[in-house]
Amino acid sequence: MDKLTIRDIALKDKRVFMRVDFNVPLKDGEVDDDTRIRSALPTIRHAVERGARLILASHLGRPKGEHRPEMSLQPVARHLQQLLGQPVAFAQDCVGGEVAQAVERLVASNVLLLENLRFHKAETKNDPDFARQLAQLADVYINDAFGTAHRAHASTEGITHYLSVRAAGLLMEKELQYLGRALENPDRPFVAVLGGAKVSDKIEVIANLLGKVNTLLIGGGMAYTFFRARGLSTGDSLVEEDKVELARQLLQEADRQSVQFLLPVDHIIADRLAADAQVRTLEEGDAIPPGWMGLDIGPKTIRRYTACLKDARTIVWNGPMGVFEMEAFAAGTMAVAHAAAAADAVSIVGGGDSVSAVQKAGVADDISHISTGGGASLEFLAGKELPGVAALSPRR
Ligand code: AMP
Repeated sequence: MDKLTIRDIALKDKRVFMRVDFNVPLKDGEVDDDTRIRSALPTIRHAVERGARLILASHLGRPKGEHRPEMSLQPVARHLQQLLGQPVAFAQDCVGGEVAQAVERLVASNVLLLENLRFHKAETKNDPDFARQLAQLADVYINDAFGTAHRAHASTEGITHYLSVRAAGLLMEKELQYLGRALENPDRPFVAVLGGAKVSDKIEVIANLLGKVNTLLIGGGMAYTFFRARGLSTGDSLVEEDKVELARQLLQEADRQSVQFLLPVDHIIADRLAADAQVRTLEEGDAIPPGWMGLDIGPKTIRRYTACLKDARTIVWNGPMGVFEMEAFAAGTMAVAHAAAAADAVSIVGGGDSVSAVQKAGVADDISHISTGGGASLEFLAGKELPGVAALSPRR
């Protein structure tokens, strides 16, 4: 870890601006799922216990620069107060005179939550004046919102130009350690499993992982663009015609780098994308007939993939193996979830669908690290530097 973390810095009596990810679902004015709030608790408690004057800031939803009462963070303040067991003050805005006064009233170990950053357009525009106003509230900057670290916004990037101490929170640190280790120094064999609808979303991830992994397991709709590149039949399966050439190049690159690049050998096919469609298992070597589409990996592929995962020492998984939202096409994704959890490996799962699959399979506790940032973890795996991480102070 080459970035400063909250554990490296003095917090006592400091005004600490902490960017958190409280982008939680609300229902009837209450927090409906508090996973993200709970994930930030260790960092919040760390600051409170060390006597910080803590200012928390987050976005919620996409209010697009307007004050939308249904996207207010006020219910989050109430919820956080219960979880923390101490008062959490709430500011009606995130900049301005009243906010500055609320910050001045804070004494050691007090907590203040600011209103939704995205009630100002300036947040996503990374407006320097707005960023400077946020920075003026604080002495120290902490970023614990990995899920937005791939965006250069005022609270994730702009603000860091005006504060000299910029550190990662504990959740951010954990994300960077797990993902960083997988890319830089993984225990081997290193097996990556990639699925989901489209290959276009994951081309850069595949390209970067080809230089790092021993085995790449491909499932989901994206497999069929690779099928087309290999000249195999795809029937009516999802194929991105404009990505076939790129898929061919990735297959060649996998060969050149001696990476085991596995595609499904059998399939669950259906005549429509519907829960009540006609469904068949297509055996190895059989062509997907016209009018039918591949919607899950078949049983033989499941056996192959789970055998690879059993031997793995590092596993990275992003994207479902099929249309797992429908029972008939969920077996492949569930099998990967169970295999990743059972393996004697460092297992890292990212992306909303894969995370909900491990939860549905009831194995979330057996996964080493469940990433809180789908888009951010994909950009990290693609080898890109995340602006919100780049902006943190180096560790000397
Ligand atoms: P992504 O957002 O790219 O990770 O894709 C997730 C979506 O891919 C899920 O909603 C799945 O239903 C869908 N998906 C997975 N496999 C297939 C497939 N074989 N054909 C069409 N869609 C699929």
